[in-house]
Amino acid sequence: MTLTTRLDESSVSAAIVALTEALGDDNVITSAGELLDYRDPYDYKGSDEYTGAAVVTPEKVGDVQEIVRIANEFRVPLWTFGQGRNYAYGGPAPRVKGSIQLSFRKMNRVLDVDDELAYAVVEPGVRFQDLYDHLREGGYRLWPSIPDLGWGSVVGNTLDSGRGYTRYGDHPSTQCGMEVVLANGELLRTGMGGLSGSKVWHLFRESYGPNHAGLFFQSNFGIVTKMGVWLMRAPEVYVSGWATWRDDELVAGAVDALRELMFDGVITNQPLLGFGGPSESGRDPGQGGWMVRFALYGREPVIEAQYALVREALTRVGDVRVGRRDYRGDEERCGTTIHDDKVQGGVPGLELLEMFKRLNGEDAGHLDLSALGPLDGADVLASIRLRRELYDRHGLPYGAGIVLLQRSALHISPVVFDTRDEQATRAGYAAYNAMVEDLAKAGYPVYRTNIQSMDVVADQFDFGDHAQRRLNERLKDLLDPNGILSPGKQGIWPAHMRDGAL
Ligand SMILES: Cc1cc2nc3c(=O)[nH]c(=O)nc-3n(C[C@H](O)[C@H](O)[C@H](O)COP(=O)(O)OP(=O)(O)OC[C@H]3O[C@@H](n4cnc5c(N)ncnc54)[C@H](O)[C@@H]3O)c2cc1C
Repeated sequence: MTLTTRLDESSVSAAIVALTEALGDDNVITSAGELLDYRDPYDYKGSDEYTGAAVVTPEKVGDVQEIVRIANEFRVPLWTFGQGRNYAYGGPAPRVKGSIQLSFRKMNRVLDVDDELAYAVVEPGVRFQDLYDHLREGGYRLWPSIPDLGWGSVVGNTLDSGRGYTRYGDHPSTQCGMEVVLANGELLRTGMGGLSGSKVWHLFRESYGPNHAGLFFQSNFGIVTKMGVWLMRAPEVYVSGWATWRDDELVAGAVDALRELMFDGVITNQPLLGFGGPSESGRDPGQGGWMVRFALYGREPVIEAQYALVREALTRVGDVRVGRRDYRGDEERCGTTIHDDKVQGGVPGLELLEMFKRLNGEDAGHLDLSALGPLDGADVLASIRLRRELYDRHGLPYGAGIVLLQRSALHISPVVFDTRDEQATRAGYAAYNAMVEDLAKAGYPVYRTNIQSMDVVADQFDFGDHAQRRLNERLKDLLDPNGILSPGKQGIWPAHMRDGAL
């Protein structure tokens, strides 16, 4: 769908004037130079296909409501992000060129932390690094869960169903209680927050019914202005463990063994299975080998027993080496520079981005092909073979990180290209889209994608003659009749933009 030049520029200009009057010059960015920073960092250099017309930075919830009012008045689209670090999925760039980008970078306060009940309430601009610093400085007995990179926003990552690697690494399920500005400007609290003065808004995840929280994940139905996030109690001991082997065949046995260890409650985080990784910490197998990392948290005697069980189960699979690194106190954990140990210990950093640049060059971009399959060893191995075939077909090198979730395996493989080369970048996106279709045909749905592939991914959800799309469109028409909220996100378009109707 090419909508890029069709927005009414005079309406957008009028909206920018109104926004500047309402929020002040300091909160509206319009200079072409500054807007460059708000493009997709992984599109080709000089691409102007997904550039916004302005960036607005609300400072309080009332500002967000005012922005929404103005967007409705002038019928101009807003594209919301927390920090806009959604690298590999579009960064802060809007799906529709000329949209006004709503940046939450100035609404970045940790509003509350409850040490007893282990949760925080954050504004949408709070970075993982901010939350970590806040917890450390406040002396709380709490760990955040963080993704590989610590510069993203907790709320944005969570709403995009992001992943971390501690016991609380399933970020969508750590959300408990949100405040949302709807497209008509109304303020809603989800779940138990529907009761004014509720004592359990951030303690009970369900609702009287229906549960509205899901409506605001990976959608364009509202703007989240607050979120409750469950945190992990700091353990007495933390062990960052790993296992390595070279033979593909052992993947099946290792995955099955890990699944059973997870079902037994021995491993409680989300292990990551990696292929062909660089030997950053000196313990990985290097190119051509496999490594899985896992973590154990808790009391020392329990950890020792758990580690023995893990080692026994994994070495039974075949020629597998198992190792560990222990952290007994918070200072040790926070001082580590080893990426695996940081992310499994809830310590934010940017080393994976640096490593990516070292390996692929400063101007390399990438897309992440993030699809799900069953947490079954034979199937994980089959999905690896399928990806190798697909990557070979497109002349791309295959590498992967496979996150072991409760019953599914999230298989993420990058498509890397040089963003200085427009043709190479376009070829990367085209190969990615083709593989999305091939994976869907094999029963592996992509769950999260970059702005340019949102329609292709949505197209794959075809059950009931695309019943999900029709429901999404009915909701969109009802909740956001003027189509001001992130049009095109997840392939959900407002009526006037559907099928190129704009
Ligand atoms: C090397 C590398 C490693 C990575 N590793 C991981 C990883 O381990 N785990 C992982 O999950 N991701 C990973 N990513 C992807 C990405 O960098 C992170 O998910 C990052 O946290 C997303 O950026 P953000 O948090 O600033 O989200 P944002 O860009 O702020 O938000 C993401 C999306 O959420 C929606 N959104 C944000 N805020 C709101 C709001 N207030 N209301 C409504 N909708 C909103 C918007 O649609 C937005 O586009 C990685 C990327 C790279 C390049």
